[in-house]
Amino acid sequence: MPRPVIETVALPADGLGQTVTWTAWRFGEAGRGPKAYLQAGLHADEIPGMLVLHHLIEKLTAADVTGEIIVVPATNPLGLKQWIGGNLLGRFELGGLGNFNRNYPWLGAKLAERVGKQLGKDAKANIALIRAEMLAILKESKPVAAIDHMRLAIMERSVDADIALDLHCDSEAQMHLYLGPALWPSASDLAAELDSAAVMLAEDSGGGSLDEAWGGPWWYLAKQFPDAAIPPACLSATVELRGEQDVTDELAGKDADAIFRFLARRGLIKGDPGPAPTYQGKAEDLAACDYLKSPVAGVIVYAKKPGDYVIAGETVAEIVRPGEMRVPVVSSTNGLLLVRLRHRFARPGTNIGMVVGDAPLAHRQGYLLTE
Ligand SMILES: [Zn+2]
Repeated sequence: MPRPVIETVALPADGLGQTVTWTAWRFGEAGRGPKAYLQAGLHADEIPGMLVLHHLIEKLTAADVTGEIIVVPATNPLGLKQWIGGNLLGRFELGGLGNFNRNYPWLGAKLAERVGKQLGKDAKANIALIRAEMLAILKESKPVAAIDHMRLAIMERSVDADIALDLHCDSEAQMHLYLGPALWPSASDLAAELDSAAVMLAEDSGGGSLDEAWGGPWWYLAKQFPDAAIPPACLSATVELRGEQDVTDELAGKDADAIFRFLARRGLIKGDPGPAPTYQGKAEDLAACDYLKSPVAGVIVYAKKPGDYVIAGETVAEIVRPGEMRVPVVSSTNGLLLVRLRHRFARPGTNIGMVVGDAPLAHRQGYLLTE
């Protein structure tokens, strides 16, 4: 079996006398079949995906890859340097440059301007034209900070992929996915293989997350040019691999097997993955999900755990102010408690849980993500 090609990219560091490298494993051949790009650890303190991709690299090394698969198991070497007081803090760039999974370059409007008039009835030709132009736009960009160089390294290797998966995790959670509505239910095979408890659908959640930078231009162009044949040509997803502590070889092996079967079914790996399972979980608009906020500072004592169904008005947790009182935090909607906080102390406004309701909630508009 051919070994993967390991590509190491030097990222110009923000400081003097520093070296930062970014590494990708490339299986198969460009242009021979469909292309997939998978990464983990963009939020550098979210570890489950790194182990999943370690298992996947082992499996791909022994497989016959018929397409091209790029695997980046530790996407964010900048975040991995952010140790403070013995804790790895990998969600935000601590120099003030924000959340590592926000503000990705969104190419929709530029593509419309540059190739809109050339888009016709031939979907295959449109896909080739749009992908070539995406890469051309990225080539013109002039990154400054190290985080911009890293974003460009990611985008240049992924923006033309048929499948692009960004592996994350939540605090304490069941498996769940974020997808664009244009990809549902066509991507239900991925959700089913991963045995996802829920799928959240949003076209523009407001934060410029990477999965929307990958998929969003296709959905935008399809709306801007309704007479042209523009399919949602990138199956882009954020996969939340349960909670931060769910890092075992057993879970990672199971998840890597699921992704392997999904890729085989999608024509990237030779072999029979077996029949596609049926998706059993919830699929809702992201506006149907409610974040439960603590009104006060105090100790969080949960009454419910991820996977529990709650009804509107039911207590999900109490915030204990020692020696004073207990303040209940109740669900605003009927639904599935998908996420709760691992840390057991809240300050006023802390998100202590996420409930996936059954219909969009009136107060959930505009920016739909957490910070
Ligand atoms: Zn994350």
